[in-house]
Amino acid sequence: MALTETVPAAAPPAHEGILRRQSLRESAARTYARSLPIVPVRARGLTIEGADGRRYLDCLSGAGTLALGHNHPVVLEAIRTVLDSGAPLHVLDLATPVKDAFTTELFATLPGKLAETARIQFCGPAGTDAVEAAFKLVRTATGRDGLMAFSGAYHGMTAEALAASGGAQHTSVVRLPYPYDYRCPFQTGGERGAELAARWTQSLLDDPKSGVPRPAGMILEPVQGEGGVIPAPDGWLRRMREITADRQIPLIVDEVQTGVGRTGAFWAVDHSGIVPDVIVLSKAIGGSLPLAVIVYREELDAWQPGAHAGTFRGNQLAMAAGAATLAYVRTNGLDRRAGELGRRMVDRLTALAAAHDCIGDVRGRGLMLGVELVDRSADADAMGARPADPQLAAAVQHACLERGLIVELGGRHSAVVRLLPPLTITDEQAEAILDRLADAIAAAVRTTPGPTGSSPTTMRGTSP
Ligand code: PMP
Repeated sequence: MALTETVPAAAPPAHEGILRRQSLRESAARTYARSLPIVPVRARGLTIEGADGRRYLDCLSGAGTLALGHNHPVVLEAIRTVLDSGAPLHVLDLATPVKDAFTTELFATLPGKLAETARIQFCGPAGTDAVEAAFKLVRTATGRDGLMAFSGAYHGMTAEALAASGGAQHTSVVRLPYPYDYRCPFQTGGERGAELAARWTQSLLDDPKSGVPRPAGMILEPVQGEGGVIPAPDGWLRRMREITADRQIPLIVDEVQTGVGRTGAFWAVDHSGIVPDVIVLSKAIGGSLPLAVIVYREELDAWQPGAHAGTFRGNQLAMAAGAATLAYVRTNGLDRRAGELGRRMVDRLTALAAAHDCIGDVRGRGLMLGVELVDRSADADAMGARPADPQLAAAVQHACLERGLIVELGGRHSAVVRLLPPLTITDEQAEAILDRLADAIAAAVRTTPGPTGSSPTTMRGTSP
């Protein structure tokens, strides 16, 4: 499929009719469909084609699911092989050769110390169900109840996963500061900010009058995704590992979004070398089909048969597609490729930030990239950060779509433009993505007044 988009004179009626019926029939809680009014009918790699005949570069990738992009040949082949074999597609949690092969491939990629004795629980097919399973597991194993989680976290939409997320309204989960350089609550940032965050955690656990009983577990994302693409420093992750290990608190690492090469290492924990007690996995491990598991140290395996059941834990097509994806990323070194390409994309985005004072921060790890848009007319705080500008971010997302580029928004105020392209993209495709984004930002700046009524054309020189 060519990179260049085709723009037909008028959208065909099928496209408009489908969108109209969607808005009439689907729930008010629908999400992506609101800001991305497209009707995908074909897709390959980075490119999606809509029912209106337009082509888009897809940097949403099914919310970070499509490590190999859409319809990769090895994924299609794996699915066809299962279909043609006559194997049952639905088997609850029974043993099958497909599941056996998936587990073997997954264990081959795990941090060595965990792989030696790991146990796996196949969960209901969403990341959020695996998060629930992780909480149940550590509660049973420790006999304790409370949980520790981080500001800005996202772990899912079911009750307990939501309670551990930054958007929780009612929760008994203890919230800890996550090291967020650009908006450091300690106004220092860098290693010092991360160390202060770690000390706060430590003091809550050690102060007998902190009001925080020893929890059943701590859950964290190595890079906060929905929270605004915030990579945790490796040193801070090692501190969290040390603090939890010293106090016999199981550390649950949520790699639902960061796993399978996305951040430039096969698992994001590989950067710091920490070995979690539990890893939560979903998204890319199913090779674009629904699959979610937890993998954990065998000492924690104290729960009863049926403690975390569910009908749809045996999706054979997802296991085959997932095993093929894991093997392809591993044998082709796509994790390293994501790291190299991601660094180059960050460099180019940083140059773009030098030209646009509406870009407050550029950050990321591997091919998990974020551009935080800020109110260019507002005063900066002592750390140089300015208030988020969600209105401008929405305008950038819209301008991207007009230019044939699909991006997601995230972050505390939905003001972070997020790029999650497939790990298979070429250098040329990466350039095309950044060209379109740069053009969209310039266009949005021209047409969007700042939240405090600033001049719409405040720019630092010209964009690269
Ligand atoms: N954890 C993380 C880190 C995620 O990014 C997400 C989804 N964005 C989830 C958990 C929940 O996964 P799901 O939407 O499949 O329930």
